[in-house]
Amino acid sequence: MPDIDVLVVGAGPAGSVAAWQARQAAPELDVVLLERDRAVGAPVRCAEGVGDAGLREFASPEGTDWAARKITRVIFLAPDGTEVKVAERNVGWVLDRTRFDAHLAAEARAAGAEVLVATEATGMSRNGDGRWHVRVKSGGIEETWRARVVIGADGVETMVGRWAGLDTRVPSRDMESCAQYVLQGIACDPDAIYLQFGDAIAPGGYAWIFPKGIGVANVGLGLVALKTNGRNARQYLDDWIDRRYPGAARTGYTVGGVIVHTTIKQTFTDGVLIAGDAAHMINPLSGGGIVNAMKAGRLAGCVAASAIREGDTGARRLSAYHHSWMDLLGDDHLKYYKIKQALEDLDDSFFNGLARTVNKIPEGKRSLGRIFTHALIKHPQLIPIAAKFFV
Ligand SMILES: Cc1cc2nc3c(=O)[nH]c(=O)nc-3n(C[C@H](O)[C@H](O)[C@H](O)COP(=O)(O)OP(=O)(O)OC[C@H]3O[C@@H](n4cnc5c(N)ncnc54)[C@H](O)[C@@H]3O)c2cc1C
Repeated sequence: MPDIDVLVVGAGPAGSVAAWQARQAAPELDVVLLERDRAVGAPVRCAEGVGDAGLREFASPEGTDWAARKITRVIFLAPDGTEVKVAERNVGWVLDRTRFDAHLAAEARAAGAEVLVATEATGMSRNGDGRWHVRVKSGGIEETWRARVVIGADGVETMVGRWAGLDTRVPSRDMESCAQYVLQGIACDPDAIYLQFGDAIAPGGYAWIFPKGIGVANVGLGLVALKTNGRNARQYLDDWIDRRYPGAARTGYTVGGVIVHTTIKQTFTDGVLIAGDAAHMINPLSGGGIVNAMKAGRLAGCVAASAIREGDTGARRLSAYHHSWMDLLGDDHLKYYKIKQALEDLDDSFFNGLARTVNKIPEGKRSLGRIFTHALIKHPQLIPIAAKFFV
């Protein structure tokens, strides 16, 4: 029976960074990264946008083949179509996730981790020897491997958390259904990402245009199924694209779920850590999870490595991971979640009015902070929430 120190399930951003950082922290450990798909990074279920600062903690985008487009502007579109341009330098990047995820897995491999594709974890149980016995399937053959620490980085549909007895359920109001096309030959600012709000466009969520080049963009939307009139995300998206870009060529299509919730109550147990989407570590306001997943993966890899070195992989020792995550971002997500709930009560007319007020601020002086301040002035019921969490 193969005996592994750290077994990482899932080679998305969380898993690859976890394997990379675990090996870097403790090069003597056997670290294995499993990916059930036949290639790391494919298929892509993502709009591929990341903030500049967060990305740079892990990789420099300049001159790489995995950074598709530098973004220097955000354009908000109110439900009535009013545009609000927010100019900031170095806002972020639109990645090529197929290449980016492969790049992170290559970092893990370069650090000495073994990366296995087309290899799936199918179940696991705790054994009397204090190790997890993980069933691993590859090429139609199933084996059992022993692991000191299992890192569950297996995304939205996580099973590792459940196998370990952790509660990873998602309330249906906090699960967004997303649909996205790659559109070719469209007119949009190639240096800007667009975010469009509106109950008729994407109820409970928003629509996006994330350019990957001149005239090429990921165009999609996420919505909360409970808030729709029975139509699915693809139908809403088709309607929006037919109005905005009639005749555009649709050269790619993807669907996926985004958990806009808060971090699961417990991300650890004896010999197990859960990271990234699997632990609901997505920003509940924006739905962004790539950088969060990498940050969680880094914490998980480092805590697993030092716990093994110390000879204690029990729940109490591994709880350090949960506390570090909550200090880093998890507590902020609780605040963002409250704001999300407050925004849910506001209707289209609020956002239309806000867009017109914000447009009175000179373009160079518009920032997300100022927009938020205007939102508070226009809608005083947000003030107690802001006061509670921001002051
Ligand atoms: C439509 C859409 C648009 C999005 N747009 C953005 C965006 O623009 N910016 C942003 O920051 N975030 C975005 N997100 C969210 C982002 O994609 C995720 O937050 C991010 O990929 C999370 O990384 P992860 O490593 O936790 O999980 P994932 O990237 O989902 O990786 C999990 C991996 O685990 C593998 N796996 C699962 N089970 C097993 C198993 N049993 N054995 C082996 N392997 C397994 C999967 O195949 C997968 O490769 C979007 C999501 C969707 C659906």
